[in-house]
Amino acid sequence: MSKMNDLSHLLGGHSLQEARGMLLSFWAKYRALFPQHQLWAEVESHRKTLDRCLPIFLHGDEGVAYKKGGVLVLSMQGAFGHGSRASERAKRLEENYRALSDGIPLNFLRTGFQTRLLICVCPKDMYAEDRRVWNALFENAVADLATAQREGVDLGGTAGRIFPIVLGNKGDWSYLVSSANLERSYRRAPKGAGENGDHNVEGPGVCHLCTCGQGTDWEDLNAADAAMDQAFTVELPVPWDRESPMTRELLVDNSCNGKNRFHCIDPWHALHLGIGKAWVASGIMMLQHLVPETQVDKRMRAIGAEYRSFCRRQKLDPVIRRIDIHSFGGGGANEANGTWNKAAVTSNFMMFLQEFCEQRAAMVEGDERLRIFAFGTKRINTFMRGIYSGEVFLPRATAAELSKALYEFIKAYLYEAHASAHLGLPYFPLFPKLHFLHETAHELKRQSEIADYAFNPAVYSCALDEDFIGRTAVITRCVSPRIIAKRTLERYLCHIQLAWARH
Ligand SMILES: [Zn+2]
Repeated sequence: MSKMNDLSHLLGGHSLQEARGMLLSFWAKYRALFPQHQLWAEVESHRKTLDRCLPIFLHGDEGVAYKKGGVLVLSMQGAFGHGSRASERAKRLEENYRALSDGIPLNFLRTGFQTRLLICVCPKDMYAEDRRVWNALFENAVADLATAQREGVDLGGTAGRIFPIVLGNKGDWSYLVSSANLERSYRRAPKGAGENGDHNVEGPGVCHLCTCGQGTDWEDLNAADAAMDQAFTVELPVPWDRESPMTRELLVDNSCNGKNRFHCIDPWHALHLGIGKAWVASGIMMLQHLVPETQVDKRMRAIGAEYRSFCRRQKLDPVIRRIDIHSFGGGGANEANGTWNKAAVTSNFMMFLQEFCEQRAAMVEGDERLRIFAFGTKRINTFMRGIYSGEVFLPRATAAELSKALYEFIKAYLYEAHASAHLGLPYFPLFPKLHFLHETAHELKRQSEIADYAFNPAVYSCALDEDFIGRTAVITRCVSPRIIAKRTLERYLCHIQLAWARH
């Protein structure tokens, strides 16, 4: 890219010259939110200028390789891109969208290969048994980025240098734990949380950002809020056993516990592939009784038919064709939870259930648990639609509003969890991903209170990164299993040449 002086794949389709205003606007807003980031000292000492600093994120995940083995795929992406489907829709529908927009679009349009860049592939059997290999992968990838960040990348001729600035590490929670060697994470949460009051209070901690699960109960929202506030004023013990080269070598936020926040929380994984599945499944277990059928199978079939009809009307792919009690955990004494693994099913169902409740408003209003479920569903839909139709920065009023919507959803979830536990029903299971949503709500609120714009948590969403991993994993399955990494990199270069030539 530097040889051809073509940085458009990191700059949302723009050249460095065209992106100048966007970059300056990006960094001005970023600085108001993270005034102690180490980048500012570099700029003040004239080692770099902000119109030459490209904000990027790292992403990592395991894909499915040959014979169902795993393969680690590391990639990078521009913090901004071509927008999102929801923002395109909002632009068409809302006349004042332009007024709200500040022209820095999210990076969710186009394919993964057009908007993400491969850094490394490594088959799991090479690192699974040997921690040194895993560490060396990150040491090498980061050393390269750190040099580029420090010394810049020469664009040749008179074009000067650019500086890729890595702002964070994205991925699902399991990847964050492995890549950052986290000691405080969901893996340390006691099993059977929520069954008795003090279960979650004492332990090694469930969150790398705060002290929840280490003397603070993450299910107590007031106590957890206080712990999250404290993480900005009191230096906590480090959350890892061995610090990742990412926070050791790259520029980081120098504020209190800033290094911990380099490892970003993805609201899409936490919700669509986590809490949202349990919310939907539990909701359906409660709402099925509004369907006038005597047998559970018939009620589920009726709900399934209504769901498919909703998807048809909204032009959504229903993804799952067959819907029965097993889609929601099986019923009876089983924990209610969605058994699908596609995020779109969760978001479809959340929209469908909002309509389902609205159409039965009289019955729903008469039952406190149903009423709060309908309210929570509406609020979480507001939140998701809000972040995806926004841009990289959300105006403070929008951020405050979306944070409130997410808080109200979390409160509704906790209400339902306790009401279900009280009735002896296995609905609304409590697991630590709910705390990740709480962290997201808290951070949006905090930022809306200190600056005019908040950083959109959708930037941390891995929805399109999964597409990139999928495409890369497909390549790894087509090459000689003996030299997967080398052959995948070669074929990847051929693929992107084609993908890039199209635009
Ligand atoms: Zn936390």
